[in-house]
Amino acid sequence: ANKSTLIIVSNRLPLSLRKVDNSFESSTSSGGLVTALSGLTDSMNFKWLGWPGITAANDEEQENAQRALGEKMAKGIFLEEQLAQDHYDGFSNTILWPTLHYQSGIEFREEFWEAYRQVNEIFADVVAEEAHTGDLIWIHDYHLMLLPSLLRSRLRAQGKECPIGFTLHTPFPARDVWRGLPVEKELVTGMLASDVVGFHTEEYKENFATACVNHSDVVGLEETDCIRMGDHLAHLGVFIVGIDPIKFSETLKNPYVVNRINELRHMHSNKTIMIGVDRLDYTKGLVQKLKGYERFLNDNPELRNKVVLVQVAVPSRENVKEYQDLEEEIQTLVGKICGEHCAPDNFPLVYMHRSISFTELTALYSVAEVCLVTSQRDGMNLVASEYIACQGHRHGVLVLSEFAGAASFMQEGSILFHPSSTDQLSQAIYQAVTMNQDERKKRYESLCDFVTNYTRCA
Ligand code: UDP
Repeated sequence: ANKSTLIIVSNRLPLSLRKVDNSFESSTSSGGLVTALSGLTDSMNFKWLGWPGITAANDEEQENAQRALGEKMAKGIFLEEQLAQDHYDGFSNTILWPTLHYQSGIEFREEFWEAYRQVNEIFADVVAEEAHTGDLIWIHDYHLMLLPSLLRSRLRAQGKECPIGFTLHTPFPARDVWRGLPVEKELVTGMLASDVVGFHTEEYKENFATACVNHSDVVGLEETDCIRMGDHLAHLGVFIVGIDPIKFSETLKNPYVVNRINELRHMHSNKTIMIGVDRLDYTKGLVQKLKGYERFLNDNPELRNKVVLVQVAVPSRENVKEYQDLEEEIQTLVGKICGEHCAPDNFPLVYMHRSISFTELTALYSVAEVCLVTSQRDGMNLVASEYIACQGHRHGVLVLSEFAGAASFMQEGSILFHPSSTDQLSQAIYQAVTMNQDERKKRYESLCDFVTNYTRCA
């Protein structure tokens, strides 16, 4: 029992619970953070704490659920339904997420903030109880910005000493955008109680440092990348999130996937296949992607019958109004493009509003000559790396928004464009579709270097 543990804390556990008769079964769920962290399970003694996504009807049910989670090295932090909703849909996804992604016109609501604070307190209680001196606590993402400081004071009171790390998986915006939040000081000082605060890019890290220095009454800039708050020092760092390329190369050998790739290739013979994979989120620039593609079809009539865009839009945050409105806007645009350009023997757009299996995703990544990542803002974007990991044979072209975090690392090999310019996107698609083999290969090699050098296991 004196072996120390890595305690990972995220809002949502990477497991789904399903009720079977009187007990529960757990299965792994999806998402970028989940993909990024699951590699650790092989090599470390660890425990994962977070909300299990269900509300237990009574104590017995909660115990049963806890037992199922325990088998997977997880512990559930149970929340009342309304509280969980106000914390997650309310503050985290209606106020914090848009602020972090540079959206304007956000309405601050005290009751959501109160729920956010409360949930962070509940997390602090459970994590402090679970931790022993010497354990390493690693907190993830924007749902838990207050947790480092709430946890620090509990651990201190209980005489426990644990290093705390915090990683933000979203962008951190420029100072004036961040200041739009009336509680920004509480959030920043919450994060600063960590020993290490990690970001995906230099830009996000610098924006955070600037937000801290704005509060010179509480913090001081000690030296580069080090911020003092009272007698505590927080180190800021940039940590690149990678993928596991082996998982994709192995899946590509799966006979079912090989067969599926042939099937898709045959179905779209004589066409350049383009792929887009995004959660249905306004930060992903899906509207802009469709408009850019429509412009490309209109501007290049000779290519109209020679391309197909396969767009996967994974349903996301469907309780939040902005996401419902977005879904409608996208459906209208899809209808418009199909109405204008589809023919009985030609369909340039395939739109899927659902999640797909890992094998299907891998087959699509492999068969596509071009991948379109059009994020308006994006912490990193793992789809860009996953696409490259599946393109060893084809040397696919990555069209990448300059506002995706991935653009800081993949600018050399990809075609960068400004995601608000329909013209730039249309031209980038043209360049990708007409690129010769030599250039494709050269660009691909540079992208591949990045993806294989920054794997999640490195
Ligand atoms: N993905 C998924 N289900 C799907 C399609 C994709 O879980 O039906 C995965 C995809 O493989 C990637 C993740 O979702 O690992 C998306 O991560 P990204 O960083 O691109 O964006 P995020 O959703 O985290 O904002």
